[in-house]
Amino acid sequence: MVGMRIADVQEDTDHELISKEEISDIINRAAAQASEDYRGKNPLLVCVLKGAVNTLAAFSQAMSIPVQMDFMSLSSYGSGTESSGKITVRQDLSTDVRGRHVLIVEDIIDSGITLAWLVDELKRRGAASVEIFALLEKPARRKVNVDVKYKGREIPDEFVVGFGLDYDEYYRNLDSIAVLKPSVYEGGQA
Ligand code: 5GP
Ligand code: MG
Repeated sequence: MVGMRIADVQEDTDHELISKEEISDIINRAAAQASEDYRGKNPLLVCVLKGAVNTLAAFSQAMSIPVQMDFMSLSSYGSGTESSGKITVRQDLSTDVRGRHVLIVEDIIDSGITLAWLVDELKRRGAASVEIFALLEKPARRKVNVDVKYKGREIPDEFVVGFGLDYDEYYRNLDSIAVLKPSVYEGGQA
């Protein structure tokens, strides 16, 4: 078999939450709408590393208009795993966003703190517009309001991996999205 499928990680996952086909459907629908909205606008797709890489790849290939892409790595410091709002740019964009129509392509919105900061930052740098596509959202965990123009799917407050999303840097290459078994975190290293 080619590729990492749910059957290959059965011992570590509780269940598959979103199939490969459903991920494609969500992304294709959003990309079709964005292609219409951004026609003639030469949008810049901004990907926040690393989790959104798979989503960016699929989303950009589903768009039917010319786009450019750039990447950014951010880190947020706080107590434990919670974002604090103090965001540091680890690796910046190589593109000047002044006057550009920016579409942020995200894997998942949890508290929303990182994304709210990024939207403000890109506007501060002079972007003509800043919108968001998020493949997944966890509404139960939202702490700050962010306007998501292109919505993917809402999921319950469970830790998911796959399609770019990791635990301890693993599972990013799983081709669907799955809920990880608590025993995997409780046991420490995956
Ligand atoms: P926030 O919205 O809290 O600022 O941060 C969102 C980030 O937290 C995501 O980009 C992702 O890196 C991480 N994250 C949130 N929920 C999950 C999840 O269920 N699984 C994984 N692998 N990462 C998550
Ligand atoms: Mg992310």
